[in-house]
Amino acid sequence: MMVAGLALALAGCATANTPAQTGPVRVVATTTQIADFSRAVAGEDGIVTALIRPNQSAHAFDPSARDLVALGEANALISNGLGLEPWLSSVEDASGFGGTLIVASADVTVMADDPHVWTSPRNALIMVANIIAGLQLARPDMSATFAKNGSAYEARLTLLDDWTTEAFASVPADQRILVTNHDSLAYFVRDYDIRFLGSILPGLDDNAEPSAADVDAIVQKIRASGAAAVFSENTVSAKLAATIAREAGVAVYSGDQALYADSLGGPGTAGATYIGATIHNVTVMVTAWGGSVPPLPEGLAP
Ligand SMILES: [Zn+2]
Repeated sequence: MMVAGLALALAGCATANTPAQTGPVRVVATTTQIADFSRAVAGEDGIVTALIRPNQSAHAFDPSARDLVALGEANALISNGLGLEPWLSSVEDASGFGGTLIVASADVTVMADDPHVWTSPRNALIMVANIIAGLQLARPDMSATFAKNGSAYEARLTLLDDWTTEAFASVPADQRILVTNHDSLAYFVRDYDIRFLGSILPGLDDNAEPSAADVDAIVQKIRASGAAAVFSENTVSAKLAATIAREAGVAVYSGDQALYADSLGGPGTAGATYIGATIHNVTVMVTAWGGSVPPLPEGLAP
């Protein structure tokens, strides 16, 4: 946990502000995915700040002075919950945040304390419903706008879920074998009937160091399983994934072809939005496994 940043030390403990109930809705979201959902619901006029930056780990955060100012003025703070943000309450205290706290993962069926709920579009639908309801509480004057924007976005997530199901159906079930950097895609794997063989870094966090025996074990597992590839993630160095893929004699997908799991990509990249990132991930996996990627429905085209 990284909390002891300079900004926090300078800010100390502020008293809670009363956020403005007029003008644009101001939202601070912890993760890049929740910020993207919030932009969709808040609409063009909403001012949305993401605390975790594109391509950064979702498991650590050190606030800047600008983050604290944004939070101090926010109508709503939207967190993932499930232990992903142990730093949240100290950042809240330091900022003087006085708005509505929304936990986006409320009502999601949690598997084994795994916080990576957003990776499945079916969970994203639940998170967006929570964001709509929470923003309606924070800014009742904009309730109808959030409902309208939210429904339009939910329709796109449903299209994304259907398209993803169709794409994976083109790969025989026994060939959908996933090896990633860290154990980040459990909900996605569950919802699309993919076999998760293992991760290179042990566990749900992304800063654990694998031992030589861990590395050897995953290489053996890949060889024995017939897995076609190792998939690196945009937030983690691809070096170890490349070494393991080479030792196991399989392809490695990294760089522009890395999967977006913990964080979305920067502006202008395929992973700049949640829908774009999911389309990218599905396309990379289905292609690696020899399947065929169906054309995108009109509602999902970039
Ligand atoms: Zn993670």
